[in-house]
Amino acid sequence: MKKDTKLSNSIKKKESNLCLECGECCKRYWITVLPSEVDGILKELKITKKKFLEGYCELNVKIYPKSTIGVLTYPSTFFPKRIIRLIKKNSFHIADSFFVVPQVVLKRENKLTQTFFNNENKKEFRKACIFLEKNNFCKIYSKRPTPCKLFPFIAMPDLREQYPFCKLFQTSQKDFSLESKKYYSKIQKYFREVDKKSFKSIWVNPPKSGELFYSETFIGKISVEELIEMMPKK
Ligand code: SF4
Ligand code: SF4
Repeated sequence: MKKDTKLSNSIKKKESNLCLECGECCKRYWITVLPSEVDGILKELKITKKKFLEGYCELNVKIYPKSTIGVLTYPSTFFPKRIIRLIKKNSFHIADSFFVVPQVVLKRENKLTQTFFNNENKKEFRKACIFLEKNNFCKIYSKRPTPCKLFPFIAMPDLREQYPFCKLFQTSQKDFSLESKKYYSKIQKYFREVDKKSFKSIWVNPPKSGELFYSETFIGKISVEELIEMMPKK
């Protein structure tokens, strides 16, 4: 992605001579937003937190069967009947307990994008981050969430084959593992806070709905009321 000079005074990615600015990284992933990153984005967009969370974000909930009690682990007896039906409908097992990963992510939407991939340069309709603008500009470049800043180095160098589309990762040997570890510590802290204080008290006006995954498989939509029911305060 590129910065939009009209909207941001930030420094460009140091590796930008290698980054193709193809925007592929903005079209392929759900971008996690941490509570500590929201204020910066609000200042950039000049909108309220409620408007940002409702208009630009959605829920992204992953559940993993788990047999031992721990952080963010809840008995399936708390799960709403509709969620249980969704799990069964997708032929998954109803475990006694689940590790629930409740994230807020940037919305993705179908839009006309510029694609430079496999030696092609074309315009096409694709799912992309809500902040990806024409010519692969990022509307919140200076305040973009950490995964965007670290990409593609958020992964360890030995995962290079996972990003065949990213010229930057293929050509740069930079090791951002320390920054990645720092980021993962922040994610862990966020999970511990949600576990201790509850999702609703961390986000106050969370997105109203989003997508539910069993492990990494999409199984259906989920509302914030259903999520809160699944994760009673401990
Ligand atoms: S996919 Fe890689 S090369 Fe393309 S914009 Fe993202 S970081 Fe740059
Ligand atoms: S916030 Fe910006 S950099 Fe991050 S995925 Fe969206 S458009 Fe790309």
